[in-house]
Amino acid sequence: MVLADSFGRVATDLRVSLTDRCNLRCAYCMPPEGLDWLPAPEVLTGDEIVRLIRIGVTMLGIREVRFTGGEPLLRRDLASIIARTAAVRPRPEISLTTNGIGLARRAADLRKAGLDRINVSLDTLRPEVFRKLARRDRLPDVLEGLAAAAAAGLAPVKVNAVLMRGLNDDEAVPLLRYCLSNEYELRFIEQMPLDAQHGWKRAEMVTADEIFAALSSAFTLSVDEARVRGSAPAETFLVDGGPGRVGVIASVTRPFCGSCDRVRLTADGQVRNCLFAREESDLRSLLRSGAGEAEIAARWRAAVAGKLPGHGINDPSFLQPDRPMSAIGG
Ligand code: SAM
Ligand code: SF4
Repeated sequence: MVLADSFGRVATDLRVSLTDRCNLRCAYCMPPEGLDWLPAPEVLTGDEIVRLIRIGVTMLGIREVRFTGGEPLLRRDLASIIARTAAVRPRPEISLTTNGIGLARRAADLRKAGLDRINVSLDTLRPEVFRKLARRDRLPDVLEGLAAAAAAGLAPVKVNAVLMRGLNDDEAVPLLRYCLSNEYELRFIEQMPLDAQHGWKRAEMVTADEIFAALSSAFTLSVDEARVRGSAPAETFLVDGGPGRVGVIASVTRPFCGSCDRVRLTADGQVRNCLFAREESDLRSLLRSGAGEAEIAARWRAAVAGKLPGHGINDPSFLQPDRPMSAIGG
């Protein structure tokens, strides 16, 4: 059995949000005051998360599990969740998306627990811009976290960057230089309408075309024949003939919904078939009412079967989802 939808896509990549909480307040994600966090009893326990992952992998064809949030490093049981995920057979690929704060201390343990790959978010190299954009003074922690991840054997470390007009839109080139010199693989993500405060404006976002133009002023980008795009959202380019690479995820201006292979589980146990879905399917209530594996798997399959063809960001009738990115799991 697989997680198929009515447009022929099959979800094999599970994104698991471990918490909606965060220790940063990135402007494209959250308001300065933060959000009303989920009450603790509503958040899935480690046991519940691992049980759902096991169902996904053994009964529904999930092959990759990415832990995200909110900030997943805020979960003290992260290493244990990773270790128990790594014990599931067939073993899924395990990755983590993090803001990097506290990673310096934990990277080696996470690697030992079974973490295969890591993405660290880094939008600026200037402390004063970091303070404005993430509204906390933590740039050094992120840079230390990145170095620790590479030292722990999580190479090639991937870096995610979102450019915002008037804040860090002049940093495409310095960010790429920094990542190339440290052998990190940088990917720019177009800003999406997923912020809790609904501040996203199509006319203000920095587009993939602008990012290419900026990078092309300093580097020669060529198509990376060795990396077929497949279902991967990033278009990857070799920089100055390689081996360094850079990716651009043009979720808004070049949507890749037609080849999407993702499904999401929120921190409170709801399945979402798309970041932009307006409906969720409640697996937590099934888990907590004593449902068996087959019943949970059936609800999960039905949730994916109803996936729409695309996110519709560019349609005039587009409505932003009720939950922000931090609650869905980016
Ligand atoms: N806290 C972790 C982090 O920042 O990496 C994991 C969760 S965060 C929601 C996951 C990714 O989503 C980050 O790389 C972040 O930059 C990105 N993100 C958040 N809000 C976004 C938005 N409105 N548009 C595009 N990317 C966004
Ligand atoms: Fe936190 Fe990540 Fe959102 Fe930034 S993008 S506020 S680090 S969840």
